[in-house]
Amino acid sequence: MTDAIDTAVLPRLDDSLYGIETRGVSAWFGDRKVLDRVSLSMTAGQVTALIGPSGCGKSTYLRILNRMHEMVRGASLSGEVLLAGTDVYAAGRRPADVRRRIGMVFQRPNPFPAMSIYDNVASGLKLAGIRTDREHRDHLVESSLQAAGLWQEVSNRLRSPGGSLSGGQQQRLCIARSLAVSPDVLLMDEPCSALDPTSTRRVEETIAELRGRLTIVIVTHNMQQAQRVSQSCAFFLASHDTPGRIVEAGPTDRLFGAPADQRTADYVNGRF
Ligand code: ADP
Ligand code: MG
Repeated sequence: MTDAIDTAVLPRLDDSLYGIETRGVSAWFGDRKVLDRVSLSMTAGQVTALIGPSGCGKSTYLRILNRMHEMVRGASLSGEVLLAGTDVYAAGRRPADVRRRIGMVFQRPNPFPAMSIYDNVASGLKLAGIRTDREHRDHLVESSLQAAGLWQEVSNRLRSPGGSLSGGQQQRLCIARSLAVSPDVLLMDEPCSALDPTSTRRVEETIAELRGRLTIVIVTHNMQQAQRVSQSCAFFLASHDTPGRIVEAGPTDRLFGAPADQRTADYVNGRF
């Protein structure tokens, strides 16, 4: 029995593209405010890079976008997060559904090491509660591995454990796992920080391939990487007594080539 995927809930990769936008998002851990009225529009099908020093709230911001922030004890927020024009925090909207449409890849690749490569990718479907027959599942696993740029390397060893792959391959496996459920948005929190330069390049190539197929938001400390992969960029900054704010956002070329704010200029030129 085939359970066709409900495309109304779960658009296919090549269907509609949805951007994501925040309006006046503030965040707290306990009574400590860590983000202050962050408004940003991340264009559908493009790559937006979030840059800024450690501790300015970039990871918190990503977790707010896909409703992971509320899983942290004592965490709260205000403001709006709009996906396809509707608030992901609207009453009645289930966090699990939001997380299915907005996937996340972390700094440390986190595949299930003992689980096969195939099952790692298919686990994304299972976790999302998507039932498929074998043929459809095979197709989704292959197309996700293709999209993550890993298919050629693993097509003859799909039953090998995820943990047998190199760090860079594991990261692309995690990308494939996220893609299997056809998310609208992929959030990447320093996805290359733990990788060597060659693996970093491969992940960047994957990001370039995915451009135009879904909306990507990437946090990076690597200014060259931000310029290579992103079309838009937002510079976050916090200080000991000021919560994280966006200093400046805009086209990546402009932010790096002609920053409007001196602090942006200092940061992108490594004077921070
Ligand atoms: P970035 O990703 O830019 O380095 P984070 O979003 O991780 O910044 O952190 C923003 C601020 O929130 C930091 O001051 C950090 O110490 C604080 N913070 C992050 N996570 C938690 C948490 N789970 N509990 C309390 N404070 C936190
Ligand atoms: Mg972080």
